[in-house]
Amino acid sequence: MRLLSLAAAASLLLPVTGLTPTRAASRPQPVDHALARDVKVTVLSTMLAGNPNRGTGEWGYAALVEVDGRRWLFDTGARPETVLKNAAELGIDLSTITDVVITHNHDDHTGGLLTLRRAMQAKNPAALGRAHVARGIFWPRLNANGSDDNGLLKDRAAYEATGGVFVEHAAADELAPGVWFTGPVPRTFPERNWSGARVLKAPAGDLEDNVPEDASLVIDTADGLVLVSGCGHAGIVNTVTYAQRVVRDAPLHAAIGGFHLFNATDEQLEWTAGKLKEAGLTYLLGGHCTGIEAVYRIRARAGLTRKNAVVSAVGSSFTLGKGISALSIAS
Ligand SMILES: [Zn+2]
Ligand SMILES: [Zn+2]
Repeated sequence: MRLLSLAAAASLLLPVTGLTPTRAASRPQPVDHALARDVKVTVLSTMLAGNPNRGTGEWGYAALVEVDGRRWLFDTGARPETVLKNAAELGIDLSTITDVVITHNHDDHTGGLLTLRRAMQAKNPAALGRAHVARGIFWPRLNANGSDDNGLLKDRAAYEATGGVFVEHAAADELAPGVWFTGPVPRTFPERNWSGARVLKAPAGDLEDNVPEDASLVIDTADGLVLVSGCGHAGIVNTVTYAQRVVRDAPLHAAIGGFHLFNATDEQLEWTAGKLKEAGLTYLLGGHCTGIEAVYRIRARAGLTRKNAVVSAVGSSFTLGKGISALSIAS
């Protein structure tokens, strides 16, 4: 019963605009925490490869996030070896990173975790030994055949056997000054950016699997919020709305990663782009499941240019204060 009501609500409500008061992007809240100053995000897994002999594309996502001297691996790609090889070809050493962020259970984001942990552990026992996840990520997801499709649950014991530890976040947490892991994101708007094909075995009972654990990184800077998203199942507008509530009511400076808009309707894209424009979006490095057409639609609707709204490739990056390095394929 609940499955039908969720779907019906989504189809009825999505095209509606102006559901909340216009956010005052010009009047950010006072800052009650440290702001990040030095920020760089480099893409390690996405569909396109950016330069010759510098990485391989795949249906997946991963990125290196560097903030004020600290580094995180953000998701781990789909195929076991992709991020390992791409990082090597890009000259990036992952062995000095201790913390991984896993945005949700799908195996196009978790596929490299064990390979990377084992490979980097040989150089540094603490490498990639702590994985930040949101509450609910280990709840089973049953497919039509009744078997569990949870892409992380199947690797949990093996990761823990290496000495790895999962840190489960039930709410938004500041991982380092100005760097926030959202935890589960309230679904304020019915963006419905998931497949709907699985049953979630939640403690409260069986539900449609709307990927409730889907979480993002939000980096708070003097220029505004930098959002890094894996697959965007919670919805980019929901995530931004939540970030502006729990981190700071500041403009969305940059949106980086997968936003699951590849199969969105024209109306959904129009609504999403309008909301992002309202939020103050300045940079978009859209990769993975964002969809190429969606990047261009948002670029046009939000008034961005080919310099600051780009289809992401392996090796492409965003640097605070400098903007996007698109590499050859997307420049
Ligand atoms: Zn996903
Ligand atoms: Zn994905």
